[in-house]
Amino acid sequence: MRRIALVDYGKLELQNGIAEIKELQQGTVKIAVKACSICGSDIALYRGQRSLKDERYFGHEFSGIVTDAGTQANGIKVGMRVASELSRTCGQCWNCLNGLKNYCKSMNNALLPGGFSEETLVLNTPEYSFLSQIPDSLDFETAALLEPTNCAFRIAHQANITPGGSVVIFGLGAMGIISALILKSLGARKVVGVDRSLQRLQKLRSLSLIDVVNGNDTNWLEQVQEMTSSKGADIVIEATGATSVLGDVFKTVRPGGRIVVASVYHAPAGDLTLLPIMRKELTIVGAKGPYPHITSEGKSIPVQIMMKLQKELQKLVTVYDYKDALQAFEDAMSGTAIKAVIRFN
Ligand SMILES: [Zn+2]
Ligand SMILES: [Zn+2]
Repeated sequence: MRRIALVDYGKLELQNGIAEIKELQQGTVKIAVKACSICGSDIALYRGQRSLKDERYFGHEFSGIVTDAGTQANGIKVGMRVASELSRTCGQCWNCLNGLKNYCKSMNNALLPGGFSEETLVLNTPEYSFLSQIPDSLDFETAALLEPTNCAFRIAHQANITPGGSVVIFGLGAMGIISALILKSLGARKVVGVDRSLQRLQKLRSLSLIDVVNGNDTNWLEQVQEMTSSKGADIVIEATGATSVLGDVFKTVRPGGRIVVASVYHAPAGDLTLLPIMRKELTIVGAKGPYPHITSEGKSIPVQIMMKLQKELQKLVTVYDYKDALQAFEDAMSGTAIKAVIRFN
């Protein structure tokens, strides 16, 4: 079994001939991984911004085929095409009973060794379900984006958009751009993205998915206001990970507007001026995905969104073979690839 192992901070290894996983606990499912996407949190781990000691798994955005379903696998059967999502939680813990289902259980309790491996185990019980079935028409490489699509849907949910509203998104990594696409599909009148990476801006301009503004331009704010409103945007999403950007967010949002913080911050906000929160009567909410968004029939809403946005999502994916995994991480870190997906064949 081949895997991509993070043996130390900044040190990835392609390991071959690792022993197969034989032991199957009750409620765990074995997956032959077909594709695994690199998440910002994988990069944070690589860079030492998260502790390796605390993580049992590596890679959580994956798709594949079920090779062993054990017992009590909650409807998951051998041969099924699936992707990781975190689609259902226990429904009984304090978090679940108080609308905080995204805090029910940590992935550490559900995943081993993770999606950067040809084979992985996943917990999938009636109380806690990690996997969603995917349609045959959805290719594995795009399906690996199910978990980030779920997180992006959480951002859109927290944005509470009303049709006709205007949205500005700071940070056009995968999270920013996927939530932009979802908000557009939910009826936003205008969605504008702001980013400072010239490479990324060039790429996004060529894809023409949303309007973009170069955050390095001295008149970036005027450009954004021209596209949205001189009063400012109804909703601003912060997805850069840089606390200093919050100052720009306060300038961009209209009085009475809403800010969604979708960033994982690794540093304090320094000398940020907070007065606009009161002066503009702002609503500020966080979005911590993934969240089990399901229909009344128990189907995954993010899977349905993926089907609707499949063409657009495909454009965000750069596929790498397993042997080129180190390059995939390089390109994900430099921003050359919006979403780097590693394929096991
Ligand atoms: Zn992720
Ligand atoms: Zn729970």
